[in-house]
Amino acid sequence: MDDELFLEQIECGPMQNFVYAVGSRAAREVALVDPAWNVSGIVDHVREQGFEPVCALVTHYHPDHIGGRMMGQTIEGLSELLELKGMKIYANRHEASGVQKVTGVSESDLEMVDSGDVVKIGNVEIEFLHTPGHTPGSQCFRVRNSLVSGDTLFIQGCGRVDLPGSDPDEMYQSLRKLAALPDETVLYPGHDYGGGPHRTMAETKRMNAYLRIPTLEMWRELMGT
Ligand SMILES: [Zn+2]
Repeated sequence: MDDELFLEQIECGPMQNFVYAVGSRAAREVALVDPAWNVSGIVDHVREQGFEPVCALVTHYHPDHIGGRMMGQTIEGLSELLELKGMKIYANRHEASGVQKVTGVSESDLEMVDSGDVVKIGNVEIEFLHTPGHTPGSQCFRVRNSLVSGDTLFIQGCGRVDLPGSDPDEMYQSLRKLAALPDETVLYPGHDYGGGPHRTMAETKRMNAYLRIPTLEMWRELMGT
């Protein structure tokens, strides 16, 4: 069964972002997770391997993940992808307005999803997990025993919670939820911020102090909130 799953990690841009192509070797189709920085290069790269991108999945609305203006520069992302090929963009319901504002894509391009919803590529099911905290509609993607986590969880840290739209208490609950996933789950983060490109949750729990904070009170103390 697992022979069908295709999952490739592609590092893009000066902020060590990880873009992912996730899909089916049988159907030769992939979803692109957070396509940004070099969109035509990403599309060419998956097509060279015989895969066709059929949809885009958004972890959250920050421009280094989906394109837009950030720190005085314009980053390629979803709007450039839609110019290359029309496709649905899956974003959490609470992130949809932010995605539209940052990238200029329209509401009709978006498929708003809730936690527990699933999209299928061939026979590969991708489940959406709402993990607010870094942003209100941050989400992770669970595919068999892999978890693509965006900026919610890194191998040695978690996403910032001091930005507009961040919520430290929600981040704590989201991290508890991810810490409860099976130990053999393989974590694929949204940036290469050290600790390796991917790790099992068992390894991550050993390497990441943010996953080991026992109470919300201790978390608030650590976050200074
Ligand atoms: Zn972010």
